[in-house]
Amino acid sequence: MAAPKVAVVGAGVIGLSTAMCILETCPSCSVTVFSDQFSPNTTSDVAAGMLIPHTYPGTPIHVQKQWFKETFTYLFAISQSAEASEAGIHLVSGWQVFKNTPKEELPFWSDVVLGFRPMSKAELQKFPQHQFGQAFTTLKCDCPPYLLWLEKRLKATGVQMYTRKVADLWELHSEYNVVVNCAGIGAHQLVGDKELFPVRGQVLKVHAPWVKNFIRNGDGLTYIYPGIHRVTLGGTREVESWSLSPDPGTTKDIFDRCCSLEPSLRRAQDIKVKVGLRPSRWCVRLEREVLSQGGVKLPVVHNYGHGAGGFSVHRGTAKEAACLVGECIAALQVSSSKAKL
Ligand code: FAD
Repeated sequence: MAAPKVAVVGAGVIGLSTAMCILETCPSCSVTVFSDQFSPNTTSDVAAGMLIPHTYPGTPIHVQKQWFKETFTYLFAISQSAEASEAGIHLVSGWQVFKNTPKEELPFWSDVVLGFRPMSKAELQKFPQHQFGQAFTTLKCDCPPYLLWLEKRLKATGVQMYTRKVADLWELHSEYNVVVNCAGIGAHQLVGDKELFPVRGQVLKVHAPWVKNFIRNGDGLTYIYPGIHRVTLGGTREVESWSLSPDPGTTKDIFDRCCSLEPSLRRAQDIKVKVGLRPSRWCVRLEREVLSQGGVKLPVVHNYGHGAGGFSVHRGTAKEAACLVGECIAALQVSSSKAKL
């Protein structure tokens, strides 16, 4: 079999990192990325990019922890390298605060982030409405620079990228041996996945360079995440809302909630409002499928449905998707050598 040809659909953090992992595990593969949108116009561009996992109820916790660990280790190495600034990856310390002590005082990811500990009484004085808190250091991706860094690295290894809306995965079958579906919320239409639904998120990106620590309310709804250039203020979680239009009432509400956690934000400037649709599902769809039409077969690997935690687990799921692509290629090689006999 000649060099296997792989098409990846989608150029958000999942598509680009999956393309990268495919090349790392199968350097002889030729990889092409098709997407109707590239950075800065993907959901991944809107995200805050904090490495704090979201829990997928349908995926075993040890699997989610492994995905998070792989992602943390990978990004930590970048954060400690000369690439850090261009890739937009940095360590950030801060607090997660709770009005009432949570049932689970030690989240499953507490030994993956750095220096996880309960907050001291002195630290809690900064948050008079909260009685419990956790302090830790994690990583943050500044999303548009990270996506551009991934694109640049892919192009440098010869990956072709085309702007194209794929209406049906079969469109790619005559030219590609394996197709990888990383279409995010687009998979709802592309493969008719009724288990996939949008969870709308509105955030503000503001100029407040004095804010250096993250602050997150334990319910995950209100957060202040400082990046290299802008601070992300959030947020909302609106299940089944497909609207990409910013809502002015929501903007005011987010700003007020964040100012009640960090009053100095009243002086923030240059407020930009962004909206994205989290591609949400009971569990990430990470599996092989062989499509079949009139006796013709098309091996597909799905990697979508990362909901509120795509950045936190992207490298782990991309590595697993790349292994599945490797399995598809191995199966094709077996059938092509049998056909020659
Ligand atoms: P996308 O970024 O949407 O990429 C999908 C790609 O597929 C796009 O390029 C699209 O154009 C393409 N596509 C779709 N359909 C087709 C088609 N038919 N043909 C061709 N191309 C197609 N996660 C975290 O871990 N930490 C956070 O702090 C965080 N904050 C967030 C804040 C907000 C407000 C939001 C909305 C999300 C946040 N997330 C966060 C979640 C994260 O953004 C997502 O999990 C992640 O971006 C999903 O990546 P993706 O590549 O699957 O989707």
